[in-house]
Amino acid sequence: MTSPADGCLFCRIVRRELPARVLFEDGRLFAFEDVRPQAPAHFLVVPKEHFASLADIPAGREGLLGEILLRARTIAGEKGLAGSGYRIVLNTGAEAGQSVFHIHFHVLGGRPLGWPPG
Ligand code: AMP
Repeated sequence: MTSPADGCLFCRIVRRELPARVLFEDGRLFAFEDVRPQAPAHFLVVPKEHFASLADIPAGREGLLGEILLRARTIAGEKGLAGSGYRIVLNTGAEAGQSVFHIHFHVLGGRPLGWPPG
């Protein structure tokens, strides 16, 4: 039987079927460098479990989202971004720029970031 996770790019990275510069892994989360960085620091934090986007996170999984944010904060701190600041981006849906349909939080920093984005 096939599941959406089978062909998912980020599921394949999580399963280590595809290469990535891994920053963190535990039982639930995985963090790795973005392959096309948009800032001097640009990494992604994802849940290992496959959800296509924020729209697919069921009620009751708030803890997972909080865990991702706090892990993003920790890694940003390890990269020396805590003082200068960093931006966490969660593109949801095609018009917002989501191109990989496995929920992922971008963490960007290391240069001034303009506003509004995009
Ligand atoms: P989004 O457009 O929000 O869906 O973001 C997808 C991100 O995944 C982009 O920033 C891509 O550069 C990044 N990306 C795509 N393929 C890979 C890969 N194999 N390893 C690391 N990052 C990737």
